[in-house]
Amino acid sequence: MRIELLPSSQPASDRQFLVSYLVNDAVAIDAGSIGLLAELDRQQLVEHVFITHQHIDHIATLPILLENVYEPGPKSIEVLADPQVLGFLHNDLFNGRVWPDFLALSTPDDPFLITTPLEAGQPVVRAGLTIVPIPVSHAVPTLGLIVDDGQSVVAFPSDTGPTVDLWRQLASVERLRAVFLEVSFPNSLAGLAEVSGHHCTASFAAEITKLDRQVRWIVVHRKPRYADEIAAEIAALGRPDVELVRPGIVYDL
Ligand SMILES: [Zn+2]
Ligand SMILES: [Zn+2]
Repeated sequence: MRIELLPSSQPASDRQFLVSYLVNDAVAIDAGSIGLLAELDRQQLVEHVFITHQHIDHIATLPILLENVYEPGPKSIEVLADPQVLGFLHNDLFNGRVWPDFLALSTPDDPFLITTPLEAGQPVVRAGLTIVPIPVSHAVPTLGLIVDDGQSVVAFPSDTGPTVDLWRQLASVERLRAVFLEVSFPNSLAGLAEVSGHHCTASFAAEITKLDRQVRWIVVHRKPRYADEIAAEIAALGRPDVELVRPGIVYDL
């Protein structure tokens, strides 16, 4: 499975302001930075966009992506999310004020976008990937995603603090190779991490002991202001199985 966390800083750096992963070039997980890809043909290759929750760092360039790839005809991008999140996208983004109401403008022969509701625990198959959404523990309802290409399995918990179901689900997944798990705050802001449904380094370190399995733990979603502080804390854990994500690098997992 080829996975890239798309860069969201200019010039490209390891500062992460927005969230978008590309999986095998055909599936996007979240739409924070995908509309900023300079190579338009890479945007054009994306057929399915899974939205884990409606926070702006995860949907910021969804309207730009749709604008960039639209051409008249039956082909369109499919957006998959919890039904409530699809409602937010329609009411708060594609509402004819912030951006055109692409849903009202869509016809079966000429859709601007296609929406598909996700249901917790129910797998969907897209572009050769089986993707299972699992609710996690964030400030708003959020779906983590488990992605299986038939050879390897990779988990994208999205924004979350300490959680249970996801690890229960992954406990029996033999082919799990990597987890892209967030650390948003340094330990000095543990209280803020807790109330906002995020991890600090210490809760991350406790969290990864919930999975009794050898995987690559790839740290994502460091708040840019605290990125260096978090990096130092992660290094101090002294765990060779924990690494910081590198935006713009393709992971072959
Ligand atoms: Zn969030
Ligand atoms: Zn976020």
